[in-house]
Amino acid sequence: MAIVNPCPCGSNKEYALCCKPFHQGAPAENALLLMRSRYSAYVLNLPDYIVKTTHPANPQYSDHLFSWKRSISKFSKKFSFHSLEILDFKEKNALATVTFTVHMSQGGRDATFTEKSYFEKMGSLWLYRSGQLEEGYAPNFVTAGLLRLLPLAYYGDSVLRKKAEPLTEITKELKDLVEEMIETMEACDGMGLAAPQVHHSIRLFIICAPIEIAPDQIELGEIKVFINPKILSSSEETWETPEGCLSIPSLRCNVKRPKEITVEYLSLDGSLRKERFTGWEARAILHEYDHIEGILFIDRIDPQEQTKFQPFLQNLEKRIHDGRAL
Ligand SMILES: [Zn+2]
Ligand SMILES: [Zn+2]
Repeated sequence: MAIVNPCPCGSNKEYALCCKPFHQGAPAENALLLMRSRYSAYVLNLPDYIVKTTHPANPQYSDHLFSWKRSISKFSKKFSFHSLEILDFKEKNALATVTFTVHMSQGGRDATFTEKSYFEKMGSLWLYRSGQLEEGYAPNFVTAGLLRLLPLAYYGDSVLRKKAEPLTEITKELKDLVEEMIETMEACDGMGLAAPQVHHSIRLFIICAPIEIAPDQIELGEIKVFINPKILSSSEETWETPEGCLSIPSLRCNVKRPKEITVEYLSLDGSLRKERFTGWEARAILHEYDHIEGILFIDRIDPQEQTKFQPFLQNLEKRIHDGRAL
């Protein structure tokens, strides 16, 4: 039987039997169905649906609904959508990734892109958390193996305010946790991640901070793991620059930090190290060290700025802990 009104997601089903129920309010059973229905919402120019299925921690998330919807609508109108190709789908507990290619064009020119999207389930709803993009068709974007993402603790979660416990031994489980933390940090494009941010109240964090090799030259730093760290000394000289935090999405503010520090810590192989760090590495270490002490970067900004950000923080806490996007 011929399909009268095919669903734009390319499922070869009637729209009414495919993505339409989701667009009309039925919750998607999994992240793959959500992803498909978001794609067809873009094709059909349904900005409301995109907004409703976006995680409040998404960098694009905005309370200025009108302009947000307007920009979604512009995207829908600007491009011709040809087809959706699903490359990979992984799900674990309340987290999922979908890697897909959208074949599309703009004014006759190819505008195909591949995206690895991250989804998180809040309450009973799957939501789009964030995505990493590649231009064109990029099947190599699919990572082998199991999904190794961890759920983040966001502003307002009590684990972020606890002083974390020291570790007594380096176990296989701990090494697995570090692997998962690395993947989570990379998925969210973070410069560091502390164990309390993934709901483990232990004295462990990782960093991946850029290193300034010359005044205008920045090299992507390597991933470093710190267990039971101690800040032995910090320079009197400080520097101020905007900082962000994966637990407080969308907020950036100036924080003053020492330029140089000396840190003693256990590395993942169990050896005790004493090292000096400068610049962004020092900043990332101090930011993450604060996390294991139950301190957030917003505690370190000047009181006037703090007052200014109060409404933003209250709003963030509300929308995240209400477990719904709107
Ligand atoms: Zn569909
Ligand atoms: Zn942070």
